[in-house]
Amino acid sequence: MKIAIFGGTGFIGRALAAYLVREGSEVVVVSRKSGNRGSHSVASGLIHCTWSELERDLSPLSDVQAIVNLAGASLNQRWTPKARRIILESRLTTTRKVAQFAAALSPGPEVVVQASAVGIYGTSLTGEFTEAAQRTEGNGDFLWEVTERWEAAAKQGFPDRRLILLRTGVVLGNDGGAYPLMRLPFRLGLGGKVGTGRQWVPWIHLNDLIRLIDFCLKNPAMAGPVNAVSPFPVTNEQFSAVLGRVHRTPSWFPVPAFLLKLLLGDRSMLLLEGQKVIPAAALEAGFQFIHPGLQEALADLHA
Ligand code: NDP
Repeated sequence: MKIAIFGGTGFIGRALAAYLVREGSEVVVVSRKSGNRGSHSVASGLIHCTWSELERDLSPLSDVQAIVNLAGASLNQRWTPKARRIILESRLTTTRKVAQFAAALSPGPEVVVQASAVGIYGTSLTGEFTEAAQRTEGNGDFLWEVTERWEAAAKQGFPDRRLILLRTGVVLGNDGGAYPLMRLPFRLGLGGKVGTGRQWVPWIHLNDLIRLIDFCLKNPAMAGPVNAVSPFPVTNEQFSAVLGRVHRTPSWFPVPAFLLKLLLGDRSMLLLEGQKVIPAAALEAGFQFIHPGLQEALADLHA
């Protein structure tokens, strides 16, 4: 299978590209920069090109059967008005651009996996969200707006393809994402729950996310929203307790909400709020998680 990964140089994209190449696929990584080009080769099954090269010449995408779109500016920055604009616009612009590329290919990709996030369900202490659940209309928050508009752009851009909207939770891996920061206080022996600790943490181990993307690409029955989270979400307090156990340090040092708001501004909502999300579509389709439970998942990352 030939697969193009837009935004494939990031935390998830790098792991996905390596996995797909190992599994025998030909992978085209699309990036804004041409810097990584030297490290890949057609012979290794991995080629690298830039968005602007594709504007001029779509041939690197010829015969592409699948697209994974992960591109978007990082949330890991202070959410100033300018940063909010960039976070949102980068997702809308790239999704529209990928759709233009796909439309210009003949026959073009059969399947598109579009990154999205659990923020689309809004935040809640009590709700439980499968793909079919009523959404809370997001309490009007920024992440809800971003994911709503991102998914809408994808639906508009890929009307005739098998489109998977990958509503991803907190991805746990050692080389990026939120986990290295989450575990840092525990490594220093200063870990604890964040805020009240009652907020839900919908998490997924990076390896399971990559396998789930591959499962969606190869399984024609998968279409529409897919919650990319472990079947066993935990509260922040439970997450902190497991982190403490895995690192053999106490988890007695709570981080008060006001301190986090002071340090991170609005971005603190990523840690102070959450939602209980269930991967119903993946489970119903028979996807098997390798790391369904948090204790074992964190132990794997710690090993
Ligand atoms: P990264 O930030 O690690 O990677 C995103 C990629 O997008 C980068 O490699 C970059 O590629 C590209 N990119 C960054 N800014 C822009 C921009 N302004 N315009 C176009 N492309 C840009 O993210 P992750 O790999 O962690 O996540 C991938 C996607 O999944 C993201 O969209 C994220 O929102 C979503 N997601 C991630 C979660 C997580 O826990 N990691 C959870 C939920 C959703 P380059 O610089 O090479 O162009």
